[in-house]
Amino acid sequence: MSSEHKPQLWFLTGSQALYGEETLAQVAGQSSQIQQLLAGSGRISAELVGKPVLTGPAAIRRVMLEANADPACIGVIAWMHTFSPAKMWITGLDALRKPLLHLHTQLNETLPWRSIDMDYMNLNQAAHGDREFGYIQTRLGVARKTVAGHAADPSLVTRIDDWARAATGHNHLRSLRLARFGDNMRDVAVTDGDKVEAELKFGVSVNTYGVNDLVALVDAVSDSAVATLVAEYADSYVLAPELRGERHESLRYAARIELGLRQFLTEGGFGAFTTNFEDLGGLRQLPGLAVQRLMADGYGFGGEGDWKTSALLAAVKAMGRGTGRGTSFMEDYTYHFGPGEAKILGAHMLEVCPSIAAHRPSCEIHPLGIGGREDPVRLVFDAAPGPGVVVGLSDLGDRFRFVANEVEVVSPDEPLPNLPVARAVWKPAPSLTTSAESWITAGAPHHTVLSQAVGTDTIRDFTHMLNVELLVIDHDTTTAAFGDRIRWNQAYYRLAQGF
Ligand code: MN
Repeated sequence: MSSEHKPQLWFLTGSQALYGEETLAQVAGQSSQIQQLLAGSGRISAELVGKPVLTGPAAIRRVMLEANADPACIGVIAWMHTFSPAKMWITGLDALRKPLLHLHTQLNETLPWRSIDMDYMNLNQAAHGDREFGYIQTRLGVARKTVAGHAADPSLVTRIDDWARAATGHNHLRSLRLARFGDNMRDVAVTDGDKVEAELKFGVSVNTYGVNDLVALVDAVSDSAVATLVAEYADSYVLAPELRGERHESLRYAARIELGLRQFLTEGGFGAFTTNFEDLGGLRQLPGLAVQRLMADGYGFGGEGDWKTSALLAAVKAMGRGTGRGTSFMEDYTYHFGPGEAKILGAHMLEVCPSIAAHRPSCEIHPLGIGGREDPVRLVFDAAPGPGVVVGLSDLGDRFRFVANEVEVVSPDEPLPNLPVARAVWKPAPSLTTSAESWITAGAPHHTVLSQAVGTDTIRDFTHMLNVELLVIDHDTTTAAFGDRIRWNQAYYRLAQGF
């Protein structure tokens, strides 16, 4: 998981040969100044890689094909510094398979009112060069994000990085391998879906393994490896006294599960997985602590065989890398309608990622009334307050649909001393009732991804890259307008699929 190189964004600059060598040298120089402004902000999570100024269709097509083929390249930024007649871009744009951002900018921030002459005008004409480029992208139906503004503007840099993070998640998902231990929880509908279509649409490869393949690795873990990991637990968490004492063997078995699971995932090249409490084979505990710690390392996870949420979690975790904020598997669990503002308490049986923890987690052992195994070890904590987004993925039969809800994670109104699982409490926008009515009308799932590391803009860019529907529930949402949007989208997406 950690061996990946820093992802690259290729920076393409359009112009034309008509300007002559001297001007084209200025174009190249100004392009690298723009790139330095962006990279120098320190706020773009990918490396910008400048390419020579493009002035003809053969070179444009060649660089697009190279971008497609280079695994380090996660997307392409294009800027028409001068006028770049857009027929030159047709075959290149048609060949491009990586995400595209059209940057509409110019180097000079201030118009030199008293000195401006035709030389200046000829060199600074992105204002119409980029409109020519916009036309051909629209004419070809090229999916892209258009970002306009000066490169020194922090809000422009933020919008580019929102997209860069989406491209990182998109790239991660394209080559993701997901292991399911057991199948779907019996009779559950929303966690199931079309894995063949998912591999075509998202790239993720989803396959099931017998849980006893995992058990064999768990049982074979050495006692010394277990001891080392248990010592790490003691350093990292507030250990419940019984886990040091009379129930120490349960903690050792939890460590054994983690080591076996890590080995299975590493050897198979998997970046995501699912478990199912109905199918634990020879496992003595439902994996809790192990799942939580693997999520914290960037692995996707879904409970009850939920491969869609697991894949989505892996992608969103890749998007949020380096922000210092967390992303977790989540489930809407129970409500507080009042007094005070209405809130949702989210949790799962065990598996909430400690990357969202407000404080040092407590490592505890408690009974679990489901699964019929030994008591599982788990981390218990409250999620850190702050803005976040909850995202779900459904398979509607004829297509996939993402639904996102902007939320504010808050501290619990009171301590929760009797709740033996990690949890997040949040206020969904615009209100609990409108959020829940909209979410349920959209057929969105009860398993979700809660992210405090990326926002709705990154999720939107990500779904555009995948060409998959996204419905957003935010402060402007009304149940009536949201219902209309669902009906319009139903018609649009069916028409867009063709015959
Ligand atoms: Mn669940």
